[in-house]
Amino acid sequence: MRTDGTKYSNFTGWIDRPDDVQPALDGDLTCDIAVIGGGMGGMAAALRLAERDQDVVLLEAEFCGYGSASRNGGQIAGAPGGDLRMLSLQSPKKMPVMVKLAENAGHYVENLMKTHDIDCDYVANGLVWGAVSPIMMLRVHTQAALLRAFGGQGTVGSREELGLPAGFVGGMRETIGGMLNPGKLARGVRRALLASSAKVFERSRVSHVRRTGSTVELTTSQGTVRANKVVLATNAYSGEWDITPKNLSTPLYVIEIESEPIAPERLAELDWTSRSGIITQHQLMTHYRLTERNTIVCGVRQPQRGQTYPLPDRVPDPSVVRDMGKDLSNRFPSLSDVAIERAWGGWIGITPDWLSVAGQVGDNVYYSLACNGHGLAQVPYVANQLADYVVDGEMSEDLAGIWSDVSEYPRSMARLLNPFVIRAVWGLDRFNDFFNGSKTLARRVLRRRGRGDR
Ligand SMILES: Cc1cc2nc3c(=O)[nH]c(=O)nc-3n(C[C@H](O)[C@H](O)[C@H](O)COP(=O)(O)OP(=O)(O)OC[C@H]3O[C@@H](n4cnc5c(N)ncnc54)[C@H](O)[C@@H]3O)c2cc1C
Repeated sequence: MRTDGTKYSNFTGWIDRPDDVQPALDGDLTCDIAVIGGGMGGMAAALRLAERDQDVVLLEAEFCGYGSASRNGGQIAGAPGGDLRMLSLQSPKKMPVMVKLAENAGHYVENLMKTHDIDCDYVANGLVWGAVSPIMMLRVHTQAALLRAFGGQGTVGSREELGLPAGFVGGMRETIGGMLNPGKLARGVRRALLASSAKVFERSRVSHVRRTGSTVELTTSQGTVRANKVVLATNAYSGEWDITPKNLSTPLYVIEIESEPIAPERLAELDWTSRSGIITQHQLMTHYRLTERNTIVCGVRQPQRGQTYPLPDRVPDPSVVRDMGKDLSNRFPSLSDVAIERAWGGWIGITPDWLSVAGQVGDNVYYSLACNGHGLAQVPYVANQLADYVVDGEMSEDLAGIWSDVSEYPRSMARLLNPFVIRAVWGLDRFNDFFNGSKTLARRVLRRRGRGDR
């Protein structure tokens, strides 16, 4: 697809910035619980703490929903992401917990929308783990069998059975979840939070987190918060402070691109009848989805490693956007004349074992982090569970299953996700795509139906 006129954004393509950004912290205050970060995780934690009548303050560097909360692909997953074969070898005990947690997370977000009356174009049509070639379909079968072995559910089917476009041979549809507009979701959760009893300070970047006796001191440029307990919910940005366990989060910059609106008759020609979002089974997955504006959003494929803190407020790299546009043309050949209207990206934090994690530093600093590509539901769900733990001192089964007591994580994920390895894995995916017939598959199916390339 054409990328010559693409607009690059350092925010998101889903919504505009809010016009009611809250005042920054100005002066000093004390509170019982402070939450740092106003993403889906921080907002969910603060909302739950307010629901539980706690004296809670949230500090957000920009405005709530500024980070990946509103920049993501909007696919609500009901199963863990990633390579289940690898994960089951690496974390066999944690996998059944993760499968249950992912399902509960999907339902949690659905309830969040209902409870707070958030209209975010949600369609519960299940995320599909798509195969672009018969060889990749074998991997789907293996992944589906593993998911079932860990207690999860999914329906394996052909392209026709799952209503997928011509570029796919088939896949596995998750039974829980679907797709939504993540910008509208984040805006809705922010609205609920601002209406709650939580005190929210935006434009309040925390520069230092320091323990002073039994309290924790959070420093911003215009004031200080002293709290009895602190919840760290800054995800990819967590490595900024010494108090965060070392190697908790490895930051990756992930890009989304969106096409211009496509005529309904051309979209109909794709036979994407289920309209389900699709994630491919490449080592570095790519996802594709349709939107309410009749556009296609595509993401991930070539993540880029963040090297230093603070993480830069950047725009997507044009060469990666071109690569993603080329991929869209291969996957949807009849749309190769369509333009990519915009591109944006955001930072995600990869956990030490790729799975959700939560823990505690000393008596009064708590953290949770979830991503494995599916953080949109897992992050707020885990943060909600963490909030209950902070109040009651009792852990839910899901939280206990991902709880970690270590003060420092191994460097293995940080080493694995170095730029050279990421580039090599991306290259391997392209090599496989070249030989597995996926490029010709979509064209062949379209030609058979009398619809060629443009
Ligand atoms: C492009 C992209 C596509 C994705 N697609 C999907 C998808 O389709 N499905 C899915 O399930 N997941 C997806 N994800 C992942 C998902 O969006 C994230 O895992 C999730 O939103 C993380 O939420 P969070 O609250 O932990 O982090 P964030 O939303 O990043 O929130 C962290 C917040 O902390 C603030 N902050 C940082 N430093 C400070 C500081 N010093 N002081 C105060 N505040 C600070 C930031 O401004 C930010 O608002 C995607 C992510 C990206 C980037």
